[in-house]
Amino acid sequence: RDPVARPASGTQQGTRLIMKILVTGNAGFIGSHVAKKLLERGDSVVGFDDVNDYYDTELKEARLKLLEETAQRTGSGYHFIRADLVDSQAVEDCFANHEFDRVIHLAAQAGVRYSLINPHSYVQSNIVGFTNIIEACRHAWVPHLTYASTSSVYGANTTMPFSEHHGVDHPLQLYAATKRANELMAHSYSHLYQLPTTGLRFFTVYGPWGRPDMALFKFTKNILEDRPIPVFNQGNHTRDFTFVDDIVEGVIRASDDIAQPDPAWSSAEPDPASSNAPYRIFNIGNNNPVKLNAYIEAIEEAVGKKALKELLPLQPGDVPDTYADSTALEQAVGYKPATPVKEGVAKFVAWYREFYGV
Ligand code: NAD
Repeated sequence: RDPVARPASGTQQGTRLIMKILVTGNAGFIGSHVAKKLLERGDSVVGFDDVNDYYDTELKEARLKLLEETAQRTGSGYHFIRADLVDSQAVEDCFANHEFDRVIHLAAQAGVRYSLINPHSYVQSNIVGFTNIIEACRHAWVPHLTYASTSSVYGANTTMPFSEHHGVDHPLQLYAATKRANELMAHSYSHLYQLPTTGLRFFTVYGPWGRPDMALFKFTKNILEDRPIPVFNQGNHTRDFTFVDDIVEGVIRASDDIAQPDPAWSSAEPDPASSNAPYRIFNIGNNNPVKLNAYIEAIEEAVGKKALKELLPLQPGDVPDTYADSTALEQAVGYKPATPVKEGVAKFVAWYREFYGV
């Protein structure tokens, strides 16, 4: 692979460069937001998702419908492939039928606690599926692969805030282990084939269209239904809750920005957060950790009702605290999270009430 011979990105249409972008996991929470934003700015999007039943498929179908409507409204190109990433033929066909300027890989088996119950689905989607995607990117000479990693790779690290230079090789559960494996696999592809890859370590993403297995959704639902909410660790742990619109902005900026291969890049001692290596890793968080109890107060305020709390110990595999240092991503692409937790929570609650008519 000769980075200089990499095909030029995008197609010029008038004054704008239109890109064809594969978004995997576009029926999911973050993927649907990213795909919608790309359609709105005029890019052509191919979505790939198996719409599995890890959680309510009706919610996933509603997100897909919104993408269809957005494509119609904007006139942007949109094609959806309903298939499993583990099916290597389906992935190969997808890359044979489309020439991608960017790949944004967000499909995965997500969730920390479920990885204790169903480890195999993590190995399938996150390891086998990731291999299929990165292999296809390599063979198709995709100019840039951006993929989702997670703050969970920091494990029980207590040096705050988390920096890309901290050790990440002691994951506390299989979910984090598979995501860390993705980062290592990306390193090997960047080294072997100079494939530009950017891993983004997301810090607890929340917002409208959010996941039913995550705290904000469950808490809002239970408070509205006068049912108790499970509060782990007495609500004393902190999370760097990051609003989905900020994440989308960061993902798209990171994907647009191809790291120019640095002649001095050394795979023996890579600086993952350097902005010009073919292999990059960035934190993408809110840089402002909030205690779970404060998060619950924001939900109570937005819903207009007090929560009934069921206090429970910290769950196995849960990390006590997360806190992102996103300086490297800010320096590389100007990422700046802008949404305070109170405002973001209120937006979620407003969406929830409207969507479920409650
Ligand atoms: P999500 O579960 O809503 O979206 C993932 C989508 O991928 C789903 O629509 C699912 O159907 C699809 N998918 C899963 N396995 C697949 C397979 N084998 N083939 C095809 N499609 C498949 O999750 P999300 O919250 O939108 O997360 C997006 C990405 O960000 C994931 O990689 C996740 O691990 C990562 N992440 C999310 C958070 C967060 O707080 N939401 C935090 C850290 C990392």
